[in-house]
Amino acid sequence: MDLSNILEYQKLDSQLVKIERQIKDNTNKKNANKMHENMREAQSRSLKLEEKAGSILSEIEKIKKQFKIQQEKMEEFASKDLEKMTTEELNKLSVLKDKLAQNLSILERNLSSLAETVNAVLSDFNKTIKTFNNSKEQYNKSKTDYENDIKSVEDSKKEIEDKLKNLSKGIDNKIMDAYQKRRKENIFPVVVPLVNNSCGGCHIELPYANISKLEDEGILTCEHCHRLIYKG
Ligand SMILES: [Zn+2]
Repeated sequence: MDLSNILEYQKLDSQLVKIERQIKDNTNKKNANKMHENMREAQSRSLKLEEKAGSILSEIEKIKKQFKIQQEKMEEFASKDLEKMTTEELNKLSVLKDKLAQNLSILERNLSSLAETVNAVLSDFNKTIKTFNNSKEQYNKSKTDYENDIKSVEDSKKEIEDKLKNLSKGIDNKIMDAYQKRRKENIFPVVVPLVNNSCGGCHIELPYANISKLEDEGILTCEHCHRLIYKG
């Protein structure tokens, strides 16, 4: 079996593989993906902060209402005619007044601690927005750089692909199909020689039966790495 055509094809194809790997490992692409991920994280963080701010604000509203109720009660006491009260009533009133004053100061403290939390949320929010904007800027830059990288290899990629197409016309269909199937599975090189009774790709030694099969048929699939082995 003459395999020189497919070997020539593979040799040229290795240039395409190299370009494809460069595109896959492109630093600008990786950076763009990372920045995109940062943008998504910042977005979900800002949503959470918005929720948090909302719940704090409604908490503050609640406290304000309680505050108002307690204040009104205090005012009610203040307007009472003390001279008409018995000693017992006066004592009761005094206890209630203390309690109300205490409640008021607790509410005041809660309110100021909530105000602090709101400030913390707001500053976190500002930071998150900044992160988002920075990430977006870097994302756009990396994306443009990546697109330029792709453009710069486009021509040579196309040239190789055209040549490969021409070469494939002279190659046995069965071998070409077997080659392309493996190529799509990222197996490369696809066609390898037998080296010291071992697969030239994965270096696993072939059983004797397979070697004689290879001698009969001229080509054999490696059971281990699925490359096509020929007797070189
Ligand atoms: Zn192998």
